[in-house]
Amino acid sequence: MEGVGIYALLLVAICTGWLLGRSGSRSIKAPPRLTRDISHEYFAGLNYLVNDEPDEAIDTFIKALEVNGETVETHLALGALLRRRGKVDKAIKVHQALLARPGLETRLADGARLQLAKDYISGGLLDRAERLLKELAQGESQGKWEALTLLVSIYQLEKEWLPAITCTEELLTHSAFRRDAEWNARAVHYHCELAERLLVEGQLSEARRKLRKGAEFQRHHLRGSLLTARLEHESGNYNAAIRECRRIAEHSPRFFTQLLDLMAASYSKLGQDGEFIKFLNGFIDKRADPVALQLMSRLIAETEGVGRAIQYLRRHLVAQPSLATAAQLLEFEAESKQFDSAMLSDIEKIREVLLTHQANQLGFQCSYCGYEARQLHWLCPGCHRWDSIQPKLENGR
Ligand SMILES: [Zn+2]
Repeated sequence: MEGVGIYALLLVAICTGWLLGRSGSRSIKAPPRLTRDISHEYFAGLNYLVNDEPDEAIDTFIKALEVNGETVETHLALGALLRRRGKVDKAIKVHQALLARPGLETRLADGARLQLAKDYISGGLLDRAERLLKELAQGESQGKWEALTLLVSIYQLEKEWLPAITCTEELLTHSAFRRDAEWNARAVHYHCELAERLLVEGQLSEARRKLRKGAEFQRHHLRGSLLTARLEHESGNYNAAIRECRRIAEHSPRFFTQLLDLMAASYSKLGQDGEFIKFLNGFIDKRADPVALQLMSRLIAETEGVGRAIQYLRRHLVAQPSLATAAQLLEFEAESKQFDSAMLSDIEKIREVLLTHQANQLGFQCSYCGYEARQLHWLCPGCHRWDSIQPKLENGR
């Protein structure tokens, strides 16, 4: 049925072009033969469509439209239709033929260049698209801004973060983009991508510079904050790392468990393990996060023994039942050596069942397209949106 819709659109576009051609012809007193030719090819194309020969129909319609220079807009619509149908080669031909036309109005030529660049992107010819778009972006025409957005999408696809930043910064000088939260967030992410790479390479001061620059576009962006906590810890600024972790726990508690180990390590470096336990208790009081509970129970088992950890988990299991808590409780029960081997075997089997169910619930999901992942992606691989992936709500519950 989609094909029928596309052909209906195609026919409307062709008819409009044909009528435009007729009226244009009339105004410039074109010879009557012209209209006859269009009419002939138009009906030939229609005949191909009726006989379910869409490729021949498209070729004939393109030929019919080539006759008249008044039909540039129709060519652009037809080219875009062809691209959407996956016929990128034909779309490229339509747009190249348009650009080869002498005396084409600048506005329409820019439109054709943008469409041709989109054809190249769809066909994976990114180098050609980039060249074409760079020319447009360097000019001062209306097409400049759309060219810049397309260039950013190419650099994002190729993970070329430096040119992506340059183009995004130029876009953000335009009033239409300056206050756009999504474009500002993109600028943060591109800086974070660079900072992340620098952190892995141990170039801490350069990573800090990138994070600071990114924060100019959006203060306290979650990804920037998570990386800042890591940077401060790796730089030995444990108090600063703890401050950043506390802020994330308050403003983005669903992401806080990503930082549990880092925060514990920072407190430990300061010799303040007790302070960490106090903070974690406070966090669990506000939010019975199963991952935080699991860590807390392990800390209790290490310091006060398995018996106290079992009591702690029993209390929480009644108040906030969760698969993760139940599985952890069974692990401690098995460790407590109060059961015979048959009973221990049963406990282990039940624990495995719980863990299997919990594993199915763990992970992340895009709030826009529903894409599910085991790991956190800042850019959704499904719908290509930034910041749309969140930890699953039921995480381990
Ligand atoms: Zn998505």
